[in-house]
Amino acid sequence: MLSIKANFVKNKIIKSIDRKAKIMEIIKKSTDLQKQIIELKKSGKTIGFVPTMGALHNGHISLIKKAKEDCDIVVLSIFVNPKQFGPNEDYNKYPRVHEIDIKICEEENVDFLFLPDEKTFYDEFHLTYVEVEKLSNIHCGKSRPGHFKGVTTVVAKLFNIVLPDKAYFGKKDFQQLIIIKKMVNDLSFPIEIIGCPIVRDFDGLALSSRNKYLTDEERKIALKISQSLNKAKEAILKNEKDASMIYDLILNELNNVDGLKIDYISIVDDKFLESVKTISKNTVILIACFVGKTRLIDNLHCEEFLN
Ligand code: AMP
Repeated sequence: MLSIKANFVKNKIIKSIDRKAKIMEIIKKSTDLQKQIIELKKSGKTIGFVPTMGALHNGHISLIKKAKEDCDIVVLSIFVNPKQFGPNEDYNKYPRVHEIDIKICEEENVDFLFLPDEKTFYDEFHLTYVEVEKLSNIHCGKSRPGHFKGVTTVVAKLFNIVLPDKAYFGKKDFQQLIIIKKMVNDLSFPIEIIGCPIVRDFDGLALSSRNKYLTDEERKIALKISQSLNKAKEAILKNEKDASMIYDLILNELNNVDGLKIDYISIVDDKFLESVKTISKNTVILIACFVGKTRLIDNLHCEEFLN
């Protein structure tokens, strides 16, 4: 007979072996994943979902870790969605590094990696789109017509396959997060959307799969974006609440940087993304810039440091 303490230790060891022995399943077919998820849900498991386009970095990993904390089962999808790229954008050259991504997912104990085929995920005669009006045509949507329509369409489709209880999105793509929340609310998806903090590199550059495109020189230039947001934060903390002053400050920081072209700087509220005159905790500063040919975005949500 084992003592209570010995039994406790034995169970703990078995649990940890179980966890280690659990092999991640890679699934390519939507219906295969959907069937498994339905069975898991019947047995009471909660499902956390992290949609991505791959080339995983610590930003994506932070979403996985949060999903692992909250849910019994974590599904991560990798799909470079053709519908969210414009005709002159980087769809073809977007990094596809499945072998490395698979290793990362295994290390992070993802339960299901959904890797749909790029050519067959959408039916040849796909006709159905989901679009969140107004919010999709401003800021990044203005510079990238059709982008958010592609995003909401793929996310709605993925939600219907993965049937998650919770889905995890980075605040790095702030406008995307707001649009997804609106879609989920407007169309009554029974899913909780969790926004996760921006993960940055050691020097402040927001992590992005597109950082891979940058040369060393361009990376230095790109750093100006987060630095300009830091300067804005300092000024706000010193009580500068006039949005036009903060706008000018950022503009001054970025305007004459060789190799950097501002796409937009917007100082907006965090629900409808409309311009504000006065900075408050509900304000978010959105920036998009081209560094060489690479389009980078970053933002500062004042909620993080204002009461
Ligand atoms: P992507 O693969 O670029 O489509 O991104 C997949 C998810 O990861 C989205 O919800 C992004 O907002 C999120 N994400 C990307 N970069 C970061 C980052 N630096 N910090 C936090 N989340 C991120």
